[in-house]
Amino acid sequence: MREIPGAWRRTADGAGLRAADGTIGSTIFAEMTGLAASTGAINLGQGFPDEDGPAVVLDAAREAIARGVNQYAPGRGFADLLTAIAEHQERFYGLRLDPERDIIVTAGATEALAATLLALLDGPDNEVVVFEPYYDAYAAAVALAGARLVTVPLRWPDFQPDLDELAAAVTDRTRVILVNDPHNPTGAVFAPAVREQIVRLAERHDAVIVTDEVYEHLVFDGAHVPIATLPGAWERTVSISSAGKTFSVTGWKIGWLSGPAPLVSAILTVKQYLTYANGSPFQPAIATGLRLPREFFADLAATLRDKRDTLGRGLRAAGFAVSDPRGSYFTVADASALGATDAADFCRTLPERAGVVGIPLTAFASAEHRDQFATLVRFAACKRVDVLDEASRRLALLGA
Ligand code: PMP
Ligand code: GLN
Repeated sequence: MREIPGAWRRTADGAGLRAADGTIGSTIFAEMTGLAASTGAINLGQGFPDEDGPAVVLDAAREAIARGVNQYAPGRGFADLLTAIAEHQERFYGLRLDPERDIIVTAGATEALAATLLALLDGPDNEVVVFEPYYDAYAAAVALAGARLVTVPLRWPDFQPDLDELAAAVTDRTRVILVNDPHNPTGAVFAPAVREQIVRLAERHDAVIVTDEVYEHLVFDGAHVPIATLPGAWERTVSISSAGKTFSVTGWKIGWLSGPAPLVSAILTVKQYLTYANGSPFQPAIATGLRLPREFFADLAATLRDKRDTLGRGLRAAGFAVSDPRGSYFTVADASALGATDAADFCRTLPERAGVVGIPLTAFASAEHRDQFATLVRFAACKRVDVLDEASRRLALLGA
């Protein structure tokens, strides 16, 4: 068995990925959603909305099925969706993409990440610098690619990286700097100086920036700034996004990536053997969504900002300390005032004690760094306001 450093290891016995403790772990999201289902607790764990997205988008998918859009899409995605993605990048960010060469539609952001990392990484001499805590699929994909994860800590309460620690992590061994902005699980939006430092270091060490921006339309103050728009960034950046969060269709798994054509072609080489193509009738529906007026996108962010505020008030009233997120679905709360010393234990008993499910931040950290997040819990705000109110009422009983 060959061991790969990181939170996961790859095994040679055909069993695929195993958790670092040797068990075949289910993801924390599956575990916690299962716990919510078996206990009837309110699921503020897995990040999915409990309301449908825009009706025109849902109708467009139904209409596409009725129209017979039911066979394989082209490997890169349908031309109209590629065009809609290019239009979206220009309308919101002033980025001008060639739809035929600079974009690929993928099976969610997850496939975009996996294909990108598998295409760019080649064995244990390649390092991927990632901000910790990190979305769990990152460590798994880096392990699949046989590369090494190098972490830069994000610390409570603002979760911005230290620029010197970031500089120390990036070396000539760094093949990829993996960014997630807005950030899951912390809700951080990186400061301009952080983005600039990432680009500077990528240029200095000839690294590729892979940026996961699935929460691009869930920024609460001001506009989202894609790293690809910074001077010097475009030619070395792969930008990833997904329809799941923007149109409340996480189950459709339509994502995309964009970047300079040579990088995109390398990734397509891998992607064509992962899924080849997916979600034919959903692709025209997402093209419809991406062309919705600006107000739709502004309302989405404003609605989630209100939900963030509702959740934050409830958590504070229950005795948690709260890090106010600047974006994403998520709020991180410190449960130490409620007696927590181990977030995983706290979250496993929370459904029984309070009828609410959250995700321990330790699930987003490598084994050697888990103690830094030992009392922190991630709660999802992407739920109906009445659900958030009920969760708040239940959590308030914790300290009673
Ligand atoms: N990246 C991040 C940061 C996420 O939070 C998620 C899912 N919530 C994904 C990627 C996966 O996106 P998708 O469902 O489109 O594969
Ligand atoms: N991205 C979602 C979250 O962070 C979960 C997706 C999944 O279950 N893999 O909650």
